[in-house]
Amino acid sequence: MTTGVGSVAAMVVLTQATYDAIVAHARRDHPDEACGIVAGPAGSDRAVRFVAMANAERSPTFYRFDSAEQLRVWREMDNRDEVPVVIYHSHTATEAYPSRTDIAYAAEPEAHYVLVSTADPERESFRSFRIVDGQVSEEEVRVIASAELTAR
Ligand SMILES: [Zn+2]
Repeated sequence: MTTGVGSVAAMVVLTQATYDAIVAHARRDHPDEACGIVAGPAGSDRAVRFVAMANAERSPTFYRFDSAEQLRVWREMDNRDEVPVVIYHSHTATEAYPSRTDIAYAAEPEAHYVLVSTADPERESFRSFRIVDGQVSEEEVRVIASAELTAR
């Protein structure tokens, strides 16, 4: 470990296109929970490659990555020297806040855990958290134009 979580700004930066893709996936799979990741170069904290994944549970109250798909996606990230900068999933009947199960299963202390709630059909709720050792801290969500992220 070269950088502690404490050194990371309490903020996730997403392009408008990625933000829209996460919300669209959540709406599409409603009332089941949707899940996926946004990969980025290791150590960069830049969420650049959106990957929608399957919820193996196909459940309105729980999500779990399909293990074969997860293996494939994680292997591809390894090959590209990427990490899961963002791990997202949706809540379809409750608020966009990590459940006890989400907290228990959160295994990536460097990841931004994005939660989207589609409970309100008109207006989604979009929030991001760090989950480290069972401790949840909310962070700012900043949405920028794609060109801005590339230039950082
Ligand atoms: Zn959840």
